[in-house]
Order: sequence, then structure tokens, then C-alpha cells
Amino acid sequence: MNRLITAKDIAKRDNMIGVGAWIRSASARQVQLKRITVAWDGRTVNGEPVQAFVNTGRVLAQCPICGRHEYVDDQEPIFYCTTCGNGGSVAARPVEFPEDWGEIKAALLKRPIVEGFGRNEIEKVLNSKPENLARDWRPGVKAEELEEENDPPVAEATSPQIAGGHGDLGGEEVSHD
Ligand SMILES: [Zn+2]
Repeated sequence: MNRLITAKDIAKRDNMIGVGAWIRSASARQVQLKRITVAWDGRTVNGEPVQAFVNTGRVLAQCPICGRHEYVDDQEPIFYCTTCGNGGSVAARPVEFPEDWGEIKAALLKRPIVEGFGRNEIEKVLNSKPENLARDWRPGVKAEELEEENDPPVAEATSPQIAGGHGDLGGEEVSHD
């Protein structure tokens, strides 16, 4: 499976039609369990946006009130913390994705992973190990920077070898033929 895990996958796993439906259901359950006082009302989205980020192939955002994380999705960019109920609010918050989100995703997905054991795709990603670079991204990092990490410039990558072998090679190899 070569994509990032988002809130949409969590909703699908739990047989919900979308992120909004999942948040309504999950927050209502937390109210029943008396862990939070109110659930998301299913409509209100306001306040300061939270920033999406990527950690080991998972698209997340951090609750600005309690610091816990929730999965988010760019197609339904709403955030509601099931741990603190957005601080006891009926309102979800908007989620901010960067302009070059598509390119960022593409750059991260070029980084191969070895899937771990899991009963579903989400667990396999959670238990995966990067072959080399981790599928991590934080706000402010451009897609080009990720691509450059993926493919370091040739001169930079090979310069130690060129420098080391230069004295031995001299000009002879070139003029031989
Ligand atoms: Zn919270």
C-alpha cells in the first residue's frame, strides 16, 4: 500500500462514511463515557486552524489545548480532539494544509517502507520501518526540500570519492584512447 494514512482511513476502518461522521460518532461516545462534556455538533467549524503534519506516514494534527493528536484528511479538513472535546466546545477547528500538499505527499511516497505486521493497512503502516528516509513532514518544509533529501545532488553525493581518487587518476584515463 503506497499512500499516507489519514482520518478517512480511520473512518473507513470504523465503518463510517466520512471524517465528519466519524468525529460525531467518536465524540458522542466519549460523552457517553463521561470523558468529555459535549460532542461536536456536526456543523460548527471555527477558531484558529490546526496545522496538519506527517509522522511515519500518518497525517495528523495536534490539539492546541491538550496536546494529543488526531488523524486529519485534506478532503474533509476538520479537527475535533476526542480527548478533550476541543476544550469542551461543540465546534471543530479547520485544518490547514500547505499549497504544495500534493507534491509533498508525492515526495514522501517515494520513500520506500517495509510494512510491519498488522490486521489492517493502518496497523501495517504503524508497524512499518523506513528503508532509508522516514515519511515525516512538518509545516514550513517545501516539497522541493523533501525531493532534494530523496535525491541529493550528484556532485554533493560523489564529491568525497572524486576528491579521494583524483590524485591517482590524473589525466591518464582520459588521454589513453
Ligand atoms: Zn485536546
